[in-house]
Amino acid sequence: MDFALTQEQQAIRDTCRDFAREVVAPAAEELDRHHKFGYDIVRQMGELGLFGLPYPEEVGGAGGDFLALCIAIEEISRADAGVGITLEAAVCLGSSPIYEFGSKEQKEKWLPDLLAGRKLWSFGLTEPEAGSDAGATKTRAERRDGKWVINGAKQFITNCGTDISLGVTITAVTGRSGEEAEISALMVPKGTPGYHVLESYRKLGWHSSDTHPLSFEDCEVPAENMLGPRGGGYRQFLHTLTGGRIAIAALSVGVGQACLDAALGYAKERRTFGAPISKHQAIQFKLADMAMETEVARTMVYRAAMAYDAAGAQTTDEVRMLAAMSKLYASEASKRAADNAVQIHGGYGFMEDYPVARYWRDVKVNEIGEGTSEVQRMLIARLIGA
Ligand SMILES: Cc1cc2nc3c(=O)[nH]c(=O)nc-3n(C[C@H](O)[C@H](O)[C@H](O)COP(=O)(O)OP(=O)(O)OC[C@H]3O[C@@H](n4cnc5c(N)ncnc54)[C@H](O)[C@@H]3O)c2cc1C
Repeated sequence: MDFALTQEQQAIRDTCRDFAREVVAPAAEELDRHHKFGYDIVRQMGELGLFGLPYPEEVGGAGGDFLALCIAIEEISRADAGVGITLEAAVCLGSSPIYEFGSKEQKEKWLPDLLAGRKLWSFGLTEPEAGSDAGATKTRAERRDGKWVINGAKQFITNCGTDISLGVTITAVTGRSGEEAEISALMVPKGTPGYHVLESYRKLGWHSSDTHPLSFEDCEVPAENMLGPRGGGYRQFLHTLTGGRIAIAALSVGVGQACLDAALGYAKERRTFGAPISKHQAIQFKLADMAMETEVARTMVYRAAMAYDAAGAQTTDEVRMLAAMSKLYASEASKRAADNAVQIHGGYGFMEDYPVARYWRDVKVNEIGEGTSEVQRMLIARLIGA
């Protein structure tokens, strides 16, 4: 098996690493402290082609692959996980369903601005009473006079409330066959009457990312705003989440690497008992674990991303399993890395003067978003036939 990156993938990694170090990292503390969205950073990521990375040039993409996107997300998240999730959600949750399931007209209408990073699209699956059990969606859409009339609520939606947010794809119940709800995906452009973006959340971390609840009150969209076939919503969001999970794993690897970088640097400087703490075996073992687990997680991401690229729109059980495993392992490994990084910093680790405090606050959500660790374990258990 060849683990070497192609020349293009290496170039993307180097470009993103430089950009993250020179542009993202210097702004991270300020965005975090003031809970600001990095419009200028998003604009520059757009100019670098990051929002269009895995899509072909015919639709305005950069002609790369999903692995290249994962490499980019890792490097950006190494500097700021909030910016990393902005990119991840825009590409994997916003543009991907439109690219995979959209009609020619929908793609032509929406993708150019989204893939250039000029605008952001979001993905509204989670509801107040339907998160892990996403099939329990209560939001409904009724067909009236050739339109879909939507009523319901979504919560924790990324990228829906910025000045450059363009709209959201939601799942809604559009009918029933017996006990089964028919779930379809509908595209709702921002500004549609009855579509309300509510006040942003007070979050533990990811302060540079945008997250809001949404409500829909007799919100009418034209029939042509249905994405894919009627009743296809469930299959679509499973496919969308498969890619999303690999990308969240990549984001986690970025944070794990940032924790290792910070902890190793600090351990070489900080002295106790007449020696740098990096010379104490207890600290060395923590650093060794962080390095090993980050590398294992990265390898899992590469493997899952390659399988996702090879499968294309036909996601297989193998790809779903690799996605669940990489997301589960990388998110938990990055949390351990953040914990170790704070511990290695001692009291300073608890102070916001060092970035490890931010990494620690930011990392927890990786075990929650796009399917919790429990959901990943349930999925893996099912796929191995337990
Ligand atoms: C910052 C942030 C951004 C997000 N962005 C988006 C977005 O852009 N779009 C979107 O649609 N969603 C988004 N989400 C939502 C996220 O995907 C959900 O929060 C997640 O899927 C969990 O759903 P829940 O919060 O309803 O938890 P619940 O489903 O209520 O789960 C609560 C707890 O119970 C556990 N649990 C549930 N069922 C079982 C079971 N059968 N067995 C064992 N344990 C179980 C869960 O693992 C969890 O620990 C975001 C969330 C956050 C925090």
